[in-house]
Amino acid sequence: MEKIKMQTPLVEMDGDEMTRILWQIIKDELLTPYLDLNTEYYDLGLEHRNETDDQVTIDAAEATKKYGVAVKCATITPNAARMEEYDLKKMYKSPNGTIRAILDGTVFRAPIVVKGIEPCVKNWVKPITLARHAYGDIYKNTEFYINKPGDAYLVFEGEDGEERKELIQHFDGAGVLRGMHNLDDSVKSFARSCFNYALDTRQDVWFGSKDTISKTYDGRFKEIFQQIFDAEFKDKFEEAGLTYFYSLIDDIVARVMKADGGFIWACKNYDGDVMSDMVSSAFGSLAMMTSVLVSPKGYFEYEAAHGTVQRHYYRHLEGKETSTNSVATIFAWTGALRKRGELDGNAALADFAGKLEKATLDTIESGKMTKDLALITSLKDVQVLNSRDFILAVKARLDELMA
Ligand code: NAD
Repeated sequence: MEKIKMQTPLVEMDGDEMTRILWQIIKDELLTPYLDLNTEYYDLGLEHRNETDDQVTIDAAEATKKYGVAVKCATITPNAARMEEYDLKKMYKSPNGTIRAILDGTVFRAPIVVKGIEPCVKNWVKPITLARHAYGDIYKNTEFYINKPGDAYLVFEGEDGEERKELIQHFDGAGVLRGMHNLDDSVKSFARSCFNYALDTRQDVWFGSKDTISKTYDGRFKEIFQQIFDAEFKDKFEEAGLTYFYSLIDDIVARVMKADGGFIWACKNYDGDVMSDMVSSAFGSLAMMTSVLVSPKGYFEYEAAHGTVQRHYYRHLEGKETSTNSVATIFAWTGALRKRGELDGNAALADFAGKLEKATLDTIESGKMTKDLALITSLKDVQVLNSRDFILAVKARLDELMA
């Protein structure tokens, strides 16, 4: 069998721990036997980030700007314990944060829906794609603990000399204080990413905020979404038979619970952080959630939504068997390969991505799965496989589909 060629390299960002182990098995068993895999490799494993003072993360993000499509393995975000474990020079920022800051854009997370793994919300028959605004709010805040009486103000000094100052609160005693912000440009590009991705994937957009309470801050989000929609997307949405729906965040949450899925739920930064974990766990497993960063300039970075599965890695290091779910990591690769295929007009590559996804889903539907899924499946005849054997079972099915 002749291997499928790739004209343009994919930016490959390797990562850490158990997902790094899966990454290599996926490449060896599911990709290189079928593809002339053309990647520009960046090792974002924590040791190499430390050796390069994290320059490798910046280089990988810049390469994504050059080529347009990247696939990323899960990586460790260092904390105090990791500083010691890896003897780090400093506490590097989250690689995802660094990459997002360079590429800008919105993270879309969607569950992989498969027969036998039913969401615990029975009416969710179609995936719910969660779009999280990835800039500002509490993630870029300034906060104080105050331990004495006094006045707290919100102050703005304009470069033109204008000053605005408003009392936030008179403190009689101890308490907490926070200042946060967002930018029109960032909210506009978030709105555009959501509407573009909706047209791309043929889904409605729902957006909620708390503009009744936060009339200026959340109100600005609501206004910008409506302005961008009316000016740039209304006609295209009408043509595609799609809708944009705004409501209060609490009303949206209530409606989501009763909906059947199949839409994009646009969330402010914190709402997206919280709701994406709720949606993924309700759909079955964090290990079945895909994630793609879509930049307004048209760069795409695909990854699994989960982390490095540290506990399994320590078992692996002890020489014990692991049953780690590789599905979202496989889908990160297929998402990136399909997009590369679409951009390069390489139908064989896009077709391969579809077959690999089908092989993965067929394998689970035939009852072969990792332990995390076996615990929640409604299928009767289940065979629990270890990390490698699951990937080999996918390969066996892929061979049938490729024949
Ligand atoms: P995690 O996603 O690795 O694990 C959370 C829980 O889900 C664990 O109980 C784990 O066993 C289970 N789980 C997750 N993925 C699984 C899979 N594929 N198969 C079976 N079970 C799975 O998150 P964590 O434990 O909070 O973090 C571990 C490390 O991952 C940390 O160092 C963190 O910084 C990093 N992390 C990275 C990313 C990323 O790169 N996108 C995201 C989250 C966490």
